Amino acid sequence: MDSGLPPVVFIGAGPGAADLITVRGARRLAAAEVVLFDALTDPALRELAPQARWVDVGKRGFCHATGQTRINALLVKFAGQGLRVVRLKGGDPSVFGRLEEELLALAAEGLTAEVVPGVTAAMTAAAAMQRPLTRRGSGRSVSLSTAMTRAGELLATRSADTEVFYMAGRQLAALARRLRDAGWPAETAVCVVSRAGCTDQLSSDHRVATLAEASVLHSGRPAVVTVGVGAAALPH
Ligand code: SAH
Repeated sequence: MDSGLPPVVFIGAGPGAADLITVRGARRLAAAEVVLFDALTDPALRELAPQARWVDVGKRGFCHATGQTRINALLVKFAGQGLRVVRLKGGDPSVFGRLEEELLALAAEGLTAEVVPGVTAAMTAAAAMQRPLTRRGSGRSVSLSTAMTRAGELLATRSADTEVFYMAGRQLAALARRLRDAGWPAETAVCVVSRAGCTDQLSSDHRVATLAEASVLHSGRPAVVTVGVGAAALPH
């Protein structure tokens, strides 16, 4: 390991297509000796670090409480062995990536880290739809929200002109009801993009009142739900 470089680099892999990683992320990955990777990262990224040992630490949601403990322990173990460790996370590491827990686990052992940002799913969906999340004059704020609470309950909010919900794909009908409860009018524009940025990306347009109809199309696929200004089509 080069002196002066932190032993662990967290890299945002982007939303699932290998070419959406940043140039900096790709460079750091190419220098890795061990890569701990998540379920939502593109297997094609392996070509950037064929020399490294790739360890699958993928987990979904909050159901595997021990999963995070195991990941923290692996990070500390490999970094402690003096190996150059990359922690590859889907999207951006700072957005619903439990980065704080892993940083704290390293810090507790006196280990430092670097964080390389990635393209988060909300931005990828906006690019896919060509619908900016902010709009001059009407969209002044954007909120990235998880629809799931730690206890596994569904929760919706109305805290910004554009609200992007992560982790709601399996419960779109229930999300529609929660959006109404949160004060979004029934006719508010909603768009759903699943596997954003990937070759099999799908998108659909709805209203809050009709969001349930999106369930079948996006079933079993990672999806973000954009509500409000950023979901509305541009005027022609
Ligand atoms: N750190 C990631 C988010 C991890 S949480 C990021 O910045 O994007 C996992 C959730 O992200 C999924 O439930 C889904 O809501 C969203 N997601 C991840 N990849 C996606 C993709 N390619 N298309 C749409 N949503 C995606």
